[in-house]
Amino acid sequence: MAKLKVAILGATGTVGQRFIQLLDGHPWFEVTALTGSERTAGRTYAEASRWVLDTPMPAAVRDIRILSEDAELDTPLVFSALPSKTAGIIEARLAAAGHVVCSNASDYRMAEDVPLLIPEVNPEHLELIAVQRKNRGWRGAIVTNPNCTATAPTMVLRPLLDAFGVEKVLLVSMQALSGAGYPGVPSYDATENVIPYIGGEEPKVEEEPQKMLGSLVDGRVLPANFTTSAHCNRVPVLEGHLVCLSIGFTRKPNLEELIAALTNFRALPQELQLPSAPAQPIVLREEPDRPQPRRDRMTGAGMAAVVGRVRPCPLLDYKLVTLGHNTIRGAAGGSLLNAELMYAQGMLNS
Ligand code: NAP
Repeated sequence: MAKLKVAILGATGTVGQRFIQLLDGHPWFEVTALTGSERTAGRTYAEASRWVLDTPMPAAVRDIRILSEDAELDTPLVFSALPSKTAGIIEARLAAAGHVVCSNASDYRMAEDVPLLIPEVNPEHLELIAVQRKNRGWRGAIVTNPNCTATAPTMVLRPLLDAFGVEKVLLVSMQALSGAGYPGVPSYDATENVIPYIGGEEPKVEEEPQKMLGSLVDGRVLPANFTTSAHCNRVPVLEGHLVCLSIGFTRKPNLEELIAALTNFRALPQELQLPSAPAQPIVLREEPDRPQPRRDRMTGAGMAAVVGRVRPCPLLDYKLVTLGHNTIRGAAGGSLLNAELMYAQGMLNS
């Protein structure tokens, strides 16, 4: 069967490169168009991109000529790795023209009629696409994935909220440098240092999980009813966001119940065997000093939420640590899984 043609917007950046890597040899999708800013448009991908990943640049993209941001595209599916604000304008134009845009940018994440999607958490929120098309008169659609720091904690909270109810979450992040894009944080600031501020990050982490964990009622998302306080920090790690969580439950489980809820969790992507779905969405590490970004970020090919240090908390009920690969599950891989879910459900036309 012919593969579905896809484009990548912002293909030269940190997330754009991950898209190219993850889509190389994909069973359903084939990259046929790439876009960039004025800086790179008109050049081939090999000329324009400063490739930073450990695997070689795929041969299939080397000679693709980068299109400008306002180019017409002939791909039904578009992956966006554009910076916010620019993304807001370009993605809306493409959705109006009939493309389904899977976006990493923050512009539309909290819009009432836009799905903010993790396929293991809220696949039913794809029903918002019909509302979006009606509201905006678009033939296509925008579907977003969450902030990279919110991703793994939200996956972990899904089974816990369902089993025990969640009332309060205290969250402290240690976020990798690649989360700031390329070239990102200057080495003079990042080396031998921790920066206790990431502009705009804490509000996103404090509100996106509630939307994803909310219920869909009459075409609207009613956010989950718990409060989060987030402290977000940049640390000198290349990839992988580590997050320490304390959680207060409606019904406090015992430790065995808590661990069983995490390790038994399976969801629609696993049932549908989507190509990028990890076999186990939440992987528990029992060693006292795991998970660690360098050692554990590639668990489930970078698509699993890794959990460890599950223990009682004297302030709330329990505390634990989560780890998620920020440019794979937290960005390009998450967006790709969203597209795979839509494809498997017949929502993408060739
Ligand atoms: P980045 O490394 O700075 O890359 C940005 C890309 O956007 C580059 O390819 C750049 O192209 C392109 N671009 C900039 N302005 C453009 C314009 N006017 N028209 C077309 N292309 C333009 O950033 P990133 O880290 O990949 O982030 C991309 C998006 O993903 C952002 O919205 C970010 O918030 C989000 N995100 C990132 C992460 C992460 O871990 N890094 C995680 C989740 C979400 P040129 O090279 O041609 O200039």
